[in-house]
Amino acid sequence: MRREEIDGVAVIQRDVPGTLAASLTFGCGARDEEIDSIGLTHLVQHLVDWTADHVAEKHEDNIWMNDTSFLAGGPPGQVAEHLATICSAISNLPPEDLSDAVADLNADSRYVSNIEEGLRDPWGALLSRRFGPSGYGLSRWPAVDYKLFTADEIRRYVERFFTSGNAVLTLTGEPPQAMRLPLPAGPRVTRSTPLVNNQMGPIWYADEVRGVALTVGVEPSAEAVVLMWALRSRVAEAVDEAGVAIGAEFMCEVVDSTRHELGLRVTPDFGRKGKNFDATVAAELLWAELQRLAADGIDRVEIADRVPTQRMAMEGDIEWMQSISELQALAHQELLGTAEIYGSESLSELTGLTPDATRDIVSGWLSSAMIVVPYGSKPDLPRATEDSCPTTRFVPAGEVVRPPFSKRFHNKGKLVIGIDAISTVDGDGNVHTVPLSQALVVERFGVIRLAHLGHGCVTTISDFADAADKLRAVLPPRRFRQAVKQLSSNW
Ligand SMILES: [Zn+2]
Ligand SMILES: [Zn+2]
Repeated sequence: MRREEIDGVAVIQRDVPGTLAASLTFGCGARDEEIDSIGLTHLVQHLVDWTADHVAEKHEDNIWMNDTSFLAGGPPGQVAEHLATICSAISNLPPEDLSDAVADLNADSRYVSNIEEGLRDPWGALLSRRFGPSGYGLSRWPAVDYKLFTADEIRRYVERFFTSGNAVLTLTGEPPQAMRLPLPAGPRVTRSTPLVNNQMGPIWYADEVRGVALTVGVEPSAEAVVLMWALRSRVAEAVDEAGVAIGAEFMCEVVDSTRHELGLRVTPDFGRKGKNFDATVAAELLWAELQRLAADGIDRVEIADRVPTQRMAMEGDIEWMQSISELQALAHQELLGTAEIYGSESLSELTGLTPDATRDIVSGWLSSAMIVVPYGSKPDLPRATEDSCPTTRFVPAGEVVRPPFSKRFHNKGKLVIGIDAISTVDGDGNVHTVPLSQALVVERFGVIRLAHLGHGCVTTISDFADAADKLRAVLPPRRFRQAVKQLSSNW
């Protein structure tokens, strides 16, 4: 008889020849944090590392939007001891020497799936607008300084999410008889996912982003995934032919059993033609291809041609990891009621898919379609509505900060720091106001950015660098953060 549970943790076993690999996966990820506790999941993972000895020679920890997993591979006895050690470490969090444990911790080592360009990532920008300052919308924003987290806060987070009921053990073979998973008991966590912006009709807007991106909310299905892959391939060809970018990336956010966000991202980093990157043309081509797909559909032969035939391969000594990561979809199904759908594994399910059916599916995407472009880009997107941030002509009362004299020729704007809001006024007198409760200031290397968490928008205010101390003074400590280091140097 296979074991269905170990110490209250559900067990999923799929026999795969080779080294035993196991993953202890918790239904807790970056989306479970709050705007003022971003990074808490990563901190928990590090505190486990700080406390626990790594018994298995092959091991890895991962944090994603939806889950946190502790992976181990090797002789069964080692794997069992490794995971038992991790469980006891979790039970004893936070460690008594918390301040030592966080002393050398750098929020930069936190990686949120898919978001490579910190708050200028166009995919992160779309998520912040779609979901607002919670859940998936958090992926855009940098972590709170880990030294600000209290022991109590960590304890409460662990108690809620890192329990036996909210965990699943996946294994590629029989679990050792002696295996124990001594975790605190607790229920499976359920959540609702509020959507802040799920407008009717396609929209586009400008934000402080590098590149352009599209997102649509879809009912999870193999058809939707392969159609987005097909669109990706057509857009990649179009931007490449036009010489404005190389390639486009397929994007996916697994939200819940009724909704996945699928989309595309086109960035200057993709390929070497960064210098010729043209966001306006890229957005226009992306939109034209989406409309063409919605109008004409696509036949199965072309889909098969445009969908990758296998998942991205892992590199290095990872045979053990490969086999266990293929089981992760089962863990996600168990914990979240949904899992990522892979285009490469979906082609066989499409036998009945006609061009008419594909047209209907893609037309259904348009009502939730959002496209983000960089500020200053004004693409011509027929039938999509521009929906940029609301501005007024009214300048609220407050302390007025102007750029230093040397920058006033280029920047005729000003920054107004009021009692309950921070406003930016552009050279034409348009005022964008951020209530303090919605404000987040992010700084790195003298570049300062102001976010409106409700809008999910970012404004660069580096020309008002002199105001940094004043902004610090009006904002709570957790709302003035250091930006993450980004792939490109010119953040
Ligand atoms: Zn880390
Ligand atoms: Zn805004």
